[in-house]
Amino acid sequence: MLDTVPPYKAGKTAVSPDGRSYKLSSNESPYDPLPSVVEAVAAAARNMQLYPDPAATELTRAIADRYDVPAEHVGLAPGSVTLAQQLLATVCDPGAEVMYAWRSFEAYPLLSDLAGMTSVRVPLAADTHDLDAMAAAVTPRTRLIFVCNPNNPTGTVVRREELVRFLDRVPDEVLVILDEAYREYVRDADVPDGLTLYRDRPNVAVLRTFSKAYGLAGLRLGYLIGHEPVAGAVRKVMMPFAINHLAQVAGIASLAAEDELLERVELVVKERTRVREGLLGQGWQVPATEANFVWLALGEDTAAFAETCAAEGLAVRPFHPEGARISIGSPEANDAFLAAAAAFRSART
Ligand code: PMP
Repeated sequence: MLDTVPPYKAGKTAVSPDGRSYKLSSNESPYDPLPSVVEAVAAAARNMQLYPDPAATELTRAIADRYDVPAEHVGLAPGSVTLAQQLLATVCDPGAEVMYAWRSFEAYPLLSDLAGMTSVRVPLAADTHDLDAMAAAVTPRTRLIFVCNPNNPTGTVVRREELVRFLDRVPDEVLVILDEAYREYVRDADVPDGLTLYRDRPNVAVLRTFSKAYGLAGLRLGYLIGHEPVAGAVRKVMMPFAINHLAQVAGIASLAAEDELLERVELVVKERTRVREGLLGQGWQVPATEANFVWLALGEDTAAFAETCAAEGLAVRPFHPEGARISIGSPEANDAFLAAAAAFRSART
C-alpha cells in the first residue's frame, strides 16, 4: 500500500545567482523567535537528559486557561498534522470515508491514504469550500470531514452562517474537524472562531498550531480542542512522550508572550494587504485571503512562475497545474516577490 502513497513535499528553499534567498513556501513566521522564548528554551535544554512530562500538564493547563475550556478538552501533538493523523486513526475502519475540499491542505489525502480510508474530495467553488456540495456528499460511510478555514492554499474562508448551516446538516456521528492553522491572521468578523462552534457540538473539534503565528514550526507543537471523547481519543493514541520538553516550554513561554506575537501577526496582516493590492495593481486575480499567504491561479504557467521566482531567490509553493501559494514574508521578501510577479506578467502579456 505504501508504494501508492506519494511523499509529502515540504516547502523548498531557493538562492538567486547573487546569493539572495527568501523562503515563501511554508507559511512560516518571517520573524526570529522572541528572545523570551529562546531564553526559556535554552534554560529548558539543561534538563534534556530527562523525559518530558508525558501529559504536558502545564502546557495543557495554559492552553485551557487561554481559551477558557476544560483541560480535558485539550489534546496535544507534535504538530497539528500529527493530530490529523491521530484523528484519522481513531475513526478508520474498512470502507470508511474522509471528506475534504479540494484543493486544500496537501496532507489530507496523504494521511487518509495512510489510514487506509477512502478520500472524498469535493471541488472548491470560486476558490472556496462548497459546503452545500460537501453536505450533499455525506454517505453512511463518512467518518470525518476536514474544513480548512482559512483554506490552505487559497486563503479563502467560510463564514458563520454557511458553516453553522453545514454543521446542522452533518449527522452527529460524523466528526467535523475545523482546521484553523491560520486563525490568528483572520480579520473578517464574519469568520467564526471554531471554539464558539464546538462548545455545543460534540462532533466538532478545532485544530490549531504553534507553527505559524507563534513561530514555533521547528519545535512541532499543535493542539486540538474538542469534547472529551475526541480529545481523550487523541490522547490515547499519542505515542508516550511525543511532545518534547523544549516544545512544551516554548509553548508556555509563547502563550505568556502572546501580545508581542500577535503584534507581529498584525504586521503580517498589513503586509498581506500590501502584497495583494500590489498584485491586483499588476493585473493579477488574487482571491481575498485571510491567511499569511496569497494564491495565484496560474494554471499551466505554474511551474514557469515558480522557476522565475526561484531565479530571484524566492521559493514559492507550486501546485502544478493549478497555481502557486506564496507566503507573506518580510517587507524585503515581499518586495522581491512583487518585482518577480511584475516581471513574469510583463513577459507574458
Ligand atoms: N493544517 C493546515 C491547514 C496547514 O497549512 C498546516 C501546515 N502547513 C498544518 C495543518 C500543519 O501544521 P503543523 O503540523 O506544523 O502544526
